[in-house]
Amino acid sequence: MSNSDSLQEIVCCMGQPVAGNPTQFMIERAFAAAGLDWRYLTLEVAPEHLADAIRGFRAMGFTGGNLTIPHKVAVIQHLDGLSEAAELMGAVNCINRVGDKLIGENTDGKGFVQSLSEVTSPEGKKVTILGAGGAARAIAVELGLSGVSEIAVVNRSAERGQELVNLLNERVKIAAKFALWEGKYAVEEGTDIVINATSIGLGNATARVPLDYDSLRPTMLVADVIFNPPQTVFLTEAAQRGCKTLDGLGMLVNQGVIGFKIWTDVDPDANVMREALEEYLEL
Ligand code: NDP
Repeated sequence: MSNSDSLQEIVCCMGQPVAGNPTQFMIERAFAAAGLDWRYLTLEVAPEHLADAIRGFRAMGFTGGNLTIPHKVAVIQHLDGLSEAAELMGAVNCINRVGDKLIGENTDGKGFVQSLSEVTSPEGKKVTILGAGGAARAIAVELGLSGVSEIAVVNRSAERGQELVNLLNERVKIAAKFALWEGKYAVEEGTDIVINATSIGLGNATARVPLDYDSLRPTMLVADVIFNPPQTVFLTEAAQRGCKTLDGLGMLVNQGVIGFKIWTDVDPDANVMREALEEYLEL
């Protein structure tokens, strides 16, 4: 943090598009609640301008940033270093300025694990992850680093699913296996945590994740990454079968909490952030 009284610290989010960013609303509320005269800007950056945008980030002395689609992988070549998780995932969603160096972090998976840890410890748990995209990858790596015992990756495209399983087995050193997703997937007996990490349900309250919902047991914790709307069919069906559920808002709030702490070195008020998000999403 700068000691200057005259200059506002700037954190930015680069993506395409970034209009109507709930993270901006949430983080700016948290800056105000913490008494910090900081700003969080959303900047639309086209892929061909990413290198210039990062040079501008350096030149203008921005303190930190978030990256969103489509820059999470492409930004790596413009940074000076990566955290362990970002290196394993091969994706960066958060920039931390350390002196004059820009270090890439990934807070998506950490946000999920933090949210999960509020209800159960991941240690020793048998996990099924539906999906193998960016969110699934971040969650799987972070769960692997948090000591789960086994991860089953279920994905429609075999190539993406197998690639994630190979990463988990070979680099994260966690027992992982792949299941091809055809028709309604039946969750294996003995599974502790089931996570929808696909985009099914995003902006569509009636979209159904193709699952044999009767394979869910009341002992299973069922989580969704979808935060808008947060009450998905996936979670409703799970709750009807007696499962404890976790919505995607917790993950979004917690990745914001983690980013805030990285940039400012201050612990934000997570309740203020959750309330801001609910207000923004009109829940
Ligand atoms: P990606 O596009 O990288 O991955 C999407 C995944 O969903 C892939 O595995 C894809 O399978 C699968 N998928 C999509 N449609 C279907 C379908 N009809 N049937 C089966 N599988 C399907 O997206 P991300 O991983 O970046 O994001 C996923 C979701 O996570 C988004 O909705 C995003 O908003 C949310 N998210 C939430 C966060 C939070 O804080 N709560 C943080 C980050 C993301 P295939 O490989 O076969 O195409």
